[in-house]
Amino acid sequence: MRIDLHTHSRASDGTDAPAALVRAAVDAGLDVLAITDHDTADGWAEASAAAAETGLTLVPGMEISTRHRGRGVHLLAFLPDPSYPPLAAELEQVLRGRASRVPAMVARLRDLGIDITEDDVRAAAHGTAASGRPHVADALVTLGVVPDRTAAFDRYLGWGRPAHVDRYAAPLEDVLRAVAGAGGVSVIAHPWGRGGLGRPDEETLAALQAVGLTGIEVDHQDHDEQARDTLGAIARDLGLVATGASDYHGDGKTDHELGCNSTHPDEFARLLEAADRAAAAAGRDTPAVVNR
Ligand code: AMP
Ligand code: ZN
Ligand code: FE
Ligand code: FE
Repeated sequence: MRIDLHTHSRASDGTDAPAALVRAAVDAGLDVLAITDHDTADGWAEASAAAAETGLTLVPGMEISTRHRGRGVHLLAFLPDPSYPPLAAELEQVLRGRASRVPAMVARLRDLGIDITEDDVRAAAHGTAASGRPHVADALVTLGVVPDRTAAFDRYLGWGRPAHVDRYAAPLEDVLRAVAGAGGVSVIAHPWGRGGLGRPDEETLAALQAVGLTGIEVDHQDHDEQARDTLGAIARDLGLVATGASDYHGDGKTDHELGCNSTHPDEFARLLEAADRAAAAAGRDTPAVVNR
């Protein structure tokens, strides 16, 4: 069983349409795929329909932009009802923050003498509700300013670079409660990754677990062997589910191929059991796992 629980489509900043993501997962030999676009469930319907035509098990999820103690935390939420009002309200606020950041980044770039417009970014964002720096990067590539996304982040859009603009992220503990209320389960993405929480220790993770955290992503490209070992030990200690995933973005991110990291079937089973309990406790109509 090969299980990849963190991937992106064109519903946010991946480069594959949701159906193409599903086909790529089948081609990569995966048995289970979670689609986890940033801050939106917009890709779920297309991905679910595509997966239903195959034997692939599809888990609807999302990667929510949150903040904790002043630092950005990416929270993977699996199987929440996205229409649950407290969750919908948090997502709406994050998406508004994303939208309002685009003109600010364009203005910074124009100040640097680059002839880029909001329309260029809109074209690169192909209708996503979750426009972000990768779409600005893609616009810069199209304009011939940089060769690829990485160069755009290195020169302009990364932290501390001249066109970097901060944006709203939802309070982590509020989102943990909202996801639970929506009948879903939460897993911190790349907790010791770049731009993460600042290496949250066991005590911090235990406190978050008390608020509803179910798991942590252990096997991720941002984590070296030592980080994976330590995080795995913390997960075992606390009884957190340990996941592994590619954080695939199509052509948008190198070294994140589908299945490059994966989740152990026992951990996936625990995650689904926790989701079943959460859905029952919330009494909400949560999305189905396709081909479960
Ligand atoms: P945003 O959410 O708009 O702030 O953009 C963050 C997204 O940019 C995340 O999905 C990252 O995976 C992606 N990202 C960050 N750094 C890079 C990079 N150097 N090259 C490509 N994508 C990146
Ligand atoms: Zn992304
Ligand atoms: Fe992330
Ligand atoms: Fe991601």
